[in-house]
Amino acid sequence: MKIDLHTHSTYSDGTDKPSELINKALAAGITIIGLTDHDSIGGWQEAIDSLRPGISLVPGAEISCQTTDGISVHILGLLFDSSNSELMNTLEKTRENRHGRMEKIIARINEAGIDITMNDVLAQLSDGATLGRPHLADALVKKGVVASRDEAFTQMLHNNSKYYVSHYSPTPEAAIALIKAAGGVSVIAHPMASHRGRTISLETFGSLIDSGLDGIEVDHRDHSPDEKKQLIALASGSNLVMTGASDYHGNGKLNSLGEYTTNPDEWDRLESRANARRVITV
Ligand code: AMP
Ligand code: ZN
Ligand code: FE
Ligand code: FE
Repeated sequence: MKIDLHTHSTYSDGTDKPSELINKALAAGITIIGLTDHDSIGGWQEAIDSLRPGISLVPGAEISCQTTDGISVHILGLLFDSSNSELMNTLEKTRENRHGRMEKIIARINEAGIDITMNDVLAQLSDGATLGRPHLADALVKKGVVASRDEAFTQMLHNNSKYYVSHYSPTPEAAIALIKAAGGVSVIAHPMASHRGRTISLETFGSLIDSGLDGIEVDHRDHSPDEKKQLIALASGSNLVMTGASDYHGNGKLNSLGEYTTNPDEWDRLESRANARRVITV
């Protein structure tokens, strides 16, 4: 068993279509793959249609959240019922708000004398995809302003940049409650990825656990060995499931499929916390 629970497709800021993602996962020996596009379940059907014996799909989404003290948090929602309208409406509101937010970021970049338009950015977006800063990064690469997505983030688009604008997002506590009400399970993604910006306090962790958090993504390339140790202690102390995943984005990031995986026993524990069996197999 090789289990990778956190990946992105062209339905958000990944560069592989869901069908390509499933093919590459099979080739990489992955047996259970989670599709977790940002604030979207748009890729589920194509992924389901591409399944073959040997690989199962964990349907999911990576929900953009913001704490009341303004810290960005990503909550992976897995195995939820996609007919739950409260959860679907929240995802839709976030996706829509990302457009106005992008206009604001672009205005700030224009003020600095760099010529880039909303149309340049939308030209980088696949049909139906969640708009994000990586698409702006791609447009800046195309214009020759920067050489790569990574350079765009390091120089211009990181969370502490003067160009940064946030978008509507639920609190992580609200997202966890919505996922639970939809019968799914929630895992906090890369909770200690400090190079992205401020990370949550132990107090906030406690609040997420009180809200029903099911698991912690421990094994992730953005965590140092020491950070992993802290997370393992936290998970063990609170009976939370520990996961590992690649956070694969195709060519959009260096992360390779299956570079971190989830232990099968931990996966069983996580899956059993959903209110129905929703892993998809053909
Ligand atoms: P947004 O959702 O618009 O706030 O953009 C955040 C997304 O940008 C995250 O999901 C990351 O996957 C992506 N991202 C952050 N830093 C980098 C980077 N250095 N290179 C490529 N993608 C990045
Ligand atoms: Zn992303
Ligand atoms: Fe994330
Ligand atoms: Fe991710």
